[in-house]
Amino acid sequence: MRNSSRSLAKRWKVFDLRRSAPPCLPAVALVVLLFPLAAWGSVLDSEAIQIVALPDASRVTLRLTAPAQVRVVDAVQSHGCFFIDLYSVQAGFQDKVIPVNHILRSIRIQTYPKALRLQFFPDERTSFRVAEAETGYLYPLGDLTAAKFVPSGHPARTIVVETTRSRRWRVILDPGHGGKDPGAVSGKRREKDVVLAIVRSAQRNLSGTDVDVILTRKSDTYRSLGSRRDFVEEIEGDLFVSIHANAAHRKRYQTPPSGIEFYYLSKTASPDTAALAEAENREDEERLGPQQNAQWNAMMSHLIEDILREHRSSGARACQAFNQVFSRDPYFRAHNRGVKSAPFRVLTNRMMPAILVEVGYIDHPAEGRLLASPDFQDRTGRLLAQSIRHYLTHQASSQN
Ligand SMILES: [Zn+2]
Repeated sequence: MRNSSRSLAKRWKVFDLRRSAPPCLPAVALVVLLFPLAAWGSVLDSEAIQIVALPDASRVTLRLTAPAQVRVVDAVQSHGCFFIDLYSVQAGFQDKVIPVNHILRSIRIQTYPKALRLQFFPDERTSFRVAEAETGYLYPLGDLTAAKFVPSGHPARTIVVETTRSRRWRVILDPGHGGKDPGAVSGKRREKDVVLAIVRSAQRNLSGTDVDVILTRKSDTYRSLGSRRDFVEEIEGDLFVSIHANAAHRKRYQTPPSGIEFYYLSKTASPDTAALAEAENREDEERLGPQQNAQWNAMMSHLIEDILREHRSSGARACQAFNQVFSRDPYFRAHNRGVKSAPFRVLTNRMMPAILVEVGYIDHPAEGRLLASPDFQDRTGRLLAQSIRHYLTHQASSQN
């Protein structure tokens, strides 16, 4: 009993508006001065807004103190939001923005002279509906360009706004290197071949599921890191996964290292990740030349700030989810170097969380042999596919 209520509490994240600090604008006070309280029929208090976020949906319930006229406008195409105007309704708090989840990114509440406007900013791949709670009356969607703004004619006291993911998941898989860039090499083993085979297996294992897969390369072709990044920026995806294989310079180690590692983006490298980030970024740096590299580094520091703000925690969460799934496999449980962060150039996109997996050491005598075997490549690809679905189906309920 206790267990089930705990897991339910975990899954259902209820937001308390009283916790979010209101901005310091005296907007409500101003409006109240201009429009005496008698002109307002109803009040929407902070505690009368309940937000429930689920992995594939969100539900917002608004409870007014008295019925109000409602208008719903779909401006998703033109303004990236839909909004609900509540006529003659006063907010019991100051204008504010409330972050929700990846289905419904945020809600902005603003006081207008004759109405309270709630702007809902959904993910592009969502559908929404606005209904009155008691009767289930569905509000029709108005037109933003209509000259005269008309309420629906159906007053409501409790309004439910449901936002649902309407499309499938989309994941970009990036087999590192390719073509003239072999990546790490050990004898006949080349990183570019190993990672392509693993990614191909992951793609096979995801076919027929609710995840669509896009590959940055499908064969042994060259693609620069810049071109990979531009490609990703064009796509609205849910996750980017770059697959690599590591190599140690064996002379430096008594015992050659082995094991899988999961990376998310960070601005700086720790001493043990610096060499790897340098190796994975090298091809890009060599291609660009000193001047372009300086420009790139300047842009990079701004870009990374943005990305870290937006996607850092989801990148870290994705790494944890992947590590959990891989740890179910006896080999990867025993050969696991854990979750880390480093400044990998290929992870710098603004569009979606991005992680990089170093599946193992291609120049470790035993692990290198495994990585080159089709059976092990398929096993790794299958685990990747499971990790991706595990992350996608659990991310929203644990989002901040
Ligand atoms: Zn690599």
